[in-house]
Amino acid sequence: MTERLKGISGSMFAGKTEILLKDIARAEYAGKIVQVFKPIIDNRWGTFSSIKSHSGGEHEAIAIQNSLEILDHLRPDTYLIAIDEIQFFDSSIIDVITFLLEQDIRVTFAGLSLDFRGEPFGSMPELLALCDQIERPTAICNQKVDGHICGEEATRTQRLINGKPANYHDPIVLIGAEQEYQARCPNHHIVPDKPKPNIKKN
Ligand SMILES: [Zn+2]
Repeated sequence: MTERLKGISGSMFAGKTEILLKDIARAEYAGKIVQVFKPIIDNRWGTFSSIKSHSGGEHEAIAIQNSLEILDHLRPDTYLIAIDEIQFFDSSIIDVITFLLEQDIRVTFAGLSLDFRGEPFGSMPELLALCDQIERPTAICNQKVDGHICGEEATRTQRLINGKPANYHDPIVLIGAEQEYQARCPNHHIVPDKPKPNIKKN
């Protein structure tokens, strides 16, 4: 039996979409109707789009601007709603998912748990709290330490701008800068000017 609400959470390159694709394939193999959604980040391809894993898997998906559009596209016979990159959706996604679960529709989502600053991303904390099951895949940190690959579990997403760690205050969209993302362990996740924890002693 599929869990009612399942979350797949982790850093970039952890294989989240791959797990989502497997869950979709399993439901479709059992003859169930699955609808796949993702936020519009790049709308050159219009509404009809797809989700892709780094290892080459792919499934068609509906790209939408805001989370309520899921309900506009909802088919009466849908068994599972799969949502990729859910961290980019507005906060109404919580109500949309609660509504779907009440209609006895299963929901599986994949998303980045933390942003490049190492802080909880969008509605992910609330979404994960509501899950019946959570998978937390990790990537491998490939930073070099004394000539060796670190090899620790990478749970963070390092943002690099022109080859250097992005500053805490750098805007998400930077025109003309070369950007790159890497998966890193907490030790090798560098965020210049990140505020220290605010702990006041009485
Ligand atoms: Zn590391």
